[in-house]
Amino acid sequence: MTQDPNSKENATVTTNVGTTEITKLQDQDQDPKFSDSTAIVDTLSTDFTFQHKIVWKNVIAYSIFHIFGLVGTYMAFSVYGKLLTSIFAVTSGIISGLGLTVGAHRHFTHKAFKATTATRRVLMLLFILNGQNSLWEWARDHRQHHKYSDTDADPHNASRGFFFSHVGWLLSRKHPLVFKYGKDIDMSDLEADSWIMFQKKHFLLIYVLISILLPCIIPVLLWNEHPLLSLLMMYFGRATVVLNATWLINSQAHISGMRPYDKSLLPAQNQCVSFFALGEGWHNYHHAFPWDYRTAELGTPYNLSTTVIDFCAKRGWIYDLKFAKEKSVKRRIMRTGDNSHPKYGNPDEFKGTETLWNFWKSPANPTYKSKDCKPGPITITREGYSFIYNEKRRK
Ligand SMILES: [Zn+2]
Ligand SMILES: [Zn+2]
Repeated sequence: MTQDPNSKENATVTTNVGTTEITKLQDQDQDPKFSDSTAIVDTLSTDFTFQHKIVWKNVIAYSIFHIFGLVGTYMAFSVYGKLLTSIFAVTSGIISGLGLTVGAHRHFTHKAFKATTATRRVLMLLFILNGQNSLWEWARDHRQHHKYSDTDADPHNASRGFFFSHVGWLLSRKHPLVFKYGKDIDMSDLEADSWIMFQKKHFLLIYVLISILLPCIIPVLLWNEHPLLSLLMMYFGRATVVLNATWLINSQAHISGMRPYDKSLLPAQNQCVSFFALGEGWHNYHHAFPWDYRTAELGTPYNLSTTVIDFCAKRGWIYDLKFAKEKSVKRRIMRTGDNSHPKYGNPDEFKGTETLWNFWKSPANPTYKSKDCKPGPITITREGYSFIYNEKRRK
């Protein structure tokens, strides 16, 4: 269960010349008095009797891809290829990863900030380098994920466990509700961008040229790397690591970690995922405030994407950044948090769950799993959708 990406608490927009409050919307998230459930036409949750049909050609394709990916990753960290290729594979993986986090996720999907045309094109190019579907489809899936989180209408419904939300959803037929509700996702903003629609239309050709050929040809031409080694490291190895870091946000960050902002949401604060996914693992905050460009509160570590956005904003490449006001965040913590927030909660209560993964000081513990956190039903009304405010889950 999650927020409507369009419903905002008090939103503040900042420009590179200072902070200007431009909008003050009512705090209406998940509040029963704003919930329009008078005309319920459907209720979404997870039907555990439903069996997803396995798509064997996808199983074979992803298996082969991962075998080559593991070989390529091993080579990048060993002595098989040239050192320059290894360095290039790691740095280009991080830079192309920013095309996913800063570009596809925060800008194109959530509209958390505006960007100049040149910046949009660069972000789009970096996104394409990863070879993760068309930008239009990626954003549609992610908007649907936020709108119907952890129910059968969510493409990677984490209520079905780690494997399904990590990769299983790509190895099986979609649930009929994913098709049904996917059609209603508003994509008009992206459809107005001819570059995005061009990439959608010519996906395969652009994939071969930019996702495979471009990164592989650079080491061959510039420092005479063997073409096969370049293909294994620069395409299979790099793409596999970035793909799995992205999938961890859908799987691990929806399973373990604390829930200081909303304990009724399955997504949690997960620092390990944040480290590997360039700041996208502070997922309880992100689902509570999906339009916030930081995807985390200020001061949270492992958020390279936010650092890059701030850097670009100072140069005017990015502007009108949206973020939640501190008092709004505090109100949400007090109302719906699990009491683990370092400032407004009592993180000492959670000390017993510390593990090796939590050796650095942070309120987020990736092994913590709230027992009472079950994503609740979402009601679909004639006007749209609303949440059933479940008091039991808030105890
Ligand atoms: Zn999520
Ligand atoms: Zn998101």
